[in-house]
Amino acid sequence: MNQHTETIVCPECETLQAATVLHSWPWWTYVHKCSHCRYIILESEWQRPLKALPFISFNRNYSPVAIGQIRLQLTQQLSDKATQLRELQREIDCIKNSLISTGLNPNSPFIQIN
Ligand SMILES: [Zn+2]
Repeated sequence: MNQHTETIVCPECETLQAATVLHSWPWWTYVHKCSHCRYIILESEWQRPLKALPFISFNRNYSPVAIGQIRLQLTQQLSDKATQLRELQREIDCIKNSLISTGLNPNSPFIQIN
């Protein structure tokens, strides 16, 4: 089964955790046992660093190492999203060109997506 790892914050002890998400069908499985306090983190408590950042900034004094981990994670997320955006733009261009090749006026309101 496919899976990926996400950094989340344990709602019980507030440590950062590397949690595995299983790509199960029909929904991905978000369950993680905290390696620090053994709390079972369920999907409704899944706090990714982006969501957790204001919380971390205002409520806790995290160690420079933890902040470094968050920074690294966010930098990676940003880079991944930028790559996805470029790929999406290529797909959009490809679909637009296909539409135009069917004889559709490129100025048609149906393809005014920019
Ligand atoms: Zn914990």
